[in-house]
Amino acid sequence: MLKSQKSQEYLVRLQNQAIIDSMRLYNSLTKEIDEFKPASQIVGLYTCGPTVYDYVTIGNWRTYILGDIVYRALKYNGLEVNYVMNLTDVGHLTGDNLGDADTGEDRMEKAKKREGKGAWQIAQFYIDDFLSSYEDLNLLPPNTFARATEHISEQIDLIKKLEEKGLTYNIDDGVYFDTIAFEAKGYKYGELSNLDKIKAGARVEFNQQKKNPRDFALWKFSPKDEKRDMEWESPWGTGFPGWHIECSAMSMKYLGEQFDIHVGGEDLKSTHHPNEIAQSEGATDKSPFVKCWMHGAFLQVDGGKMGKSLGNAYSLHDIVEKRFSPMALRYFYFSSHYRSSLNFTWEALEASQNAYNRLLVHIENLGEESGSTDSNYLKSFNDFIGNDLEVSRALALLWDLLKDDSIGDSVKLATVAEFDKVLGLDLIETSRKNKNQQLPKEVEDLASKRHLAREDKDWVLSDSLRQDIEKLGYEVKDLPNGDQMIRKNN
Ligand code: AMP
Ligand code: ZN
Repeated sequence: MLKSQKSQEYLVRLQNQAIIDSMRLYNSLTKEIDEFKPASQIVGLYTCGPTVYDYVTIGNWRTYILGDIVYRALKYNGLEVNYVMNLTDVGHLTGDNLGDADTGEDRMEKAKKREGKGAWQIAQFYIDDFLSSYEDLNLLPPNTFARATEHISEQIDLIKKLEEKGLTYNIDDGVYFDTIAFEAKGYKYGELSNLDKIKAGARVEFNQQKKNPRDFALWKFSPKDEKRDMEWESPWGTGFPGWHIECSAMSMKYLGEQFDIHVGGEDLKSTHHPNEIAQSEGATDKSPFVKCWMHGAFLQVDGGKMGKSLGNAYSLHDIVEKRFSPMALRYFYFSSHYRSSLNFTWEALEASQNAYNRLLVHIENLGEESGSTDSNYLKSFNDFIGNDLEVSRALALLWDLLKDDSIGDSVKLATVAEFDKVLGLDLIETSRKNKNQQLPKEVEDLASKRHLAREDKDWVLSDSLRQDIEKLGYEVKDLPNGDQMIRKNN
């Protein structure tokens, strides 16, 4: 039988696929590091995206960068990937992601009161802001950014399917998924969850009408006395979708009823992802919905929780305002494995900025000519990335390469460019830009005077020269090796 051209190409790709020989990823479902084998010719990848009612935090960005590294590593591996990220622009309530997602106030409605704008305006503003930070942090755009409000009919259709299969029931405030009926069909509910209370359904419950505390809303009715900015007609009444249904509806629309990898923060393991599985498998009778579930550990700030009320839910704007570059933040995320906790402090970010700057200086000094890559370094790099994305070890290897006197500059440059396909630190472009950025003569003179003042330990003079440089629109950073880095303020 003749194979289609596409599958021929796929086989060729697999044969040539020696870039990362094998890709092993920790799978929250099996709780093991599994060999990753794509289910079809095109790898389906989905990351749960932001709720666009406020600025996205550096905690959220840690998770999206995990999605980006997975995407980059798969592409680097020669695979074709269909990557989808959702944008939750409706109906995610303020109850936490650990089991209270159907309670509290609607996040968009809350933002409306805070900002005095309409829900649609708020969503658009924060989507635009998210997309601009997404680009600044050098994340590769997915094939599809899917907005929940643009997929209401798909969500209603999915709820209808669940209803036909006897997996829903209606109560005063909405249509709910019936987890007992789901298990009666032989499925297990909540396999991903670490929370025994969710498995057992022992949570203290607010909504007494629910048959089981762990049942969750598929469709919520608009309050009778209120006209919401975002509400739609449905067979069950005017209202809006529950939070979990959008991810099932949109991932299946773009990636099929079963796909390869699903990424999110560790909190989603408790309810959002078990609920996605229940909705999708319940509707299609196909299991598993997703083969590999990947969860990133949370980012902490100053050793504790990050939160709006604590005043430490920093956005990328806060980082840039303090004159750090987005790439310094990206570099900072790589200081720990994605499944280990990571603690953000301004000092740690400063250290990452310095390290990133030094990296650029090393690369600037390699010259312009790019040779062949070094196969030993590439092999080690591929082994690290292939072993459940050991990005911090890959970064340490990058430093080893740059300091290795036995490797020529043009080979180093080519190898760095390969590494950066996965790391996404924009190393080659940024170092080129820095190199071509000529300092004005006036600034250069002040800088060399300051260099001498620092050698003489004349800190008063050195400080006043710094101010002179700053007045001319340049910033000065002192590097640990005694050099100073001078960049134009933008
Ligand atoms: P949310 O907007 O709260 O639904 O979160 C969007 C994504 O960011 C989800 O995948 C969350 O799990 C993830 N997330 C939220 N807070 C953090 C954090 N502190 N560190 C890492 N990921 C987070
Ligand atoms: Zn989701």
